Amino acid sequence: MNNCFIILAGGESKRFNSKTPKPYHIYRGKHLIVHSIDKAKKYKKINKIVIVINKKHRNFIKKLNIINVKIIEGGKTRADSAYRALKSIKNNNIKNVMIHDAARPNFTIKLLDKLFKELKSNDCVVPAIKINDTVKQKIKNTIINLNRENIYLTQTPQGFNYKKLLKLQNNKSSEITDDANLFISAGKKIKIINGDPNNKKITVNSDIRIDNSTKYGIGFDVHKLVPRKKLYLGGIKIPSPVGTLGHSDGDPVLHAIMDALLGACNMGDIGEKFSDTNEKFKNIRSTILLKKVVEEIKSKEFIINNIDINIITQKPKLQKYKKKMINCIKKLCEISNSQINIKGKTAEKLGVIGKEKAIACEVIASVIKND
Ligand code: ZN
Repeated sequence: MNNCFIILAGGESKRFNSKTPKPYHIYRGKHLIVHSIDKAKKYKKINKIVIVINKKHRNFIKKLNIINVKIIEGGKTRADSAYRALKSIKNNNIKNVMIHDAARPNFTIKLLDKLFKELKSNDCVVPAIKINDTVKQKIKNTIINLNRENIYLTQTPQGFNYKKLLKLQNNKSSEITDDANLFISAGKKIKIINGDPNNKKITVNSDIRIDNSTKYGIGFDVHKLVPRKKLYLGGIKIPSPVGTLGHSDGDPVLHAIMDALLGACNMGDIGEKFSDTNEKFKNIRSTILLKKVVEEIKSKEFIINNIDINIITQKPKLQKYKKKMINCIKKLCEISNSQINIKGKTAEKLGVIGKEKAIACEVIASVIKND
């Protein structure tokens, strides 16, 4: 006996305001629909996969080169599409069938385990979550509070005994929004199991955009170390017989942070912003420059997510200054300590850094576009 996973992607994506239909948008690194396909393929108990697409989306699915999956075109409604899928596997000796919305890419393998376990003693298993919000119902002109203890939000995948579901579908009379309703309206038992709050439905563009809005930038800087100069690192002054040579205060850490942030926001580099031939910036503290950069990226609706820093120097040892540097950077960047990481590295006495003639810093920063 076989188990089949049906993925419904036949909707028009009307609420999804984009030329690319919802299932074919990139979400967390791959097309939305591919998340469900990949998970179903990986799950050993599933040996048949059917995708129901909207016939207008033929070209989109073709481009994905999906193999070992049956692709059929859906009907006018969700119920129609599910029915077509069920009929298409009539001769495949199916025992259990899962029906799933492509718009829920975040279901877990654990949820599939639970569904299969419950299907041993039930014909219809539905994951659902309790709600935390107060729910009101409007009846004519009166608004009443509903008892949220009795309210569930159902999710997919939902599991069914194939033969029983097909029979109910064959006999169905009214329009249904999900297949479990067939069992309910036929007076049959459905088994509710705990769903997963992360198994959310992607409904509007912003659900995807928020997820895809993390950007990364890289920064690197190196300064020559010379006698009788101050050493500024990460915005703080560090006692040292040698200091950095630079047009500004020569702080390679803040310079690399600025470049990483500007890179993540696609806003060029510090050389373009604060030219080292401009007298205005001569001996300027880099803390002032970083503050300017942060203000600018914030004005473009970017939020700093995290900053990871490597400071490469033979001397001085930086361990005891890390906390102070983080405190300084956090204030300048308006973020918290937990968003900044500093690692001190030596150059194993190799090259100019190892011979204490230079100090370098590399930074990776991530930002979130908030729009
Ligand atoms: Zn620099």
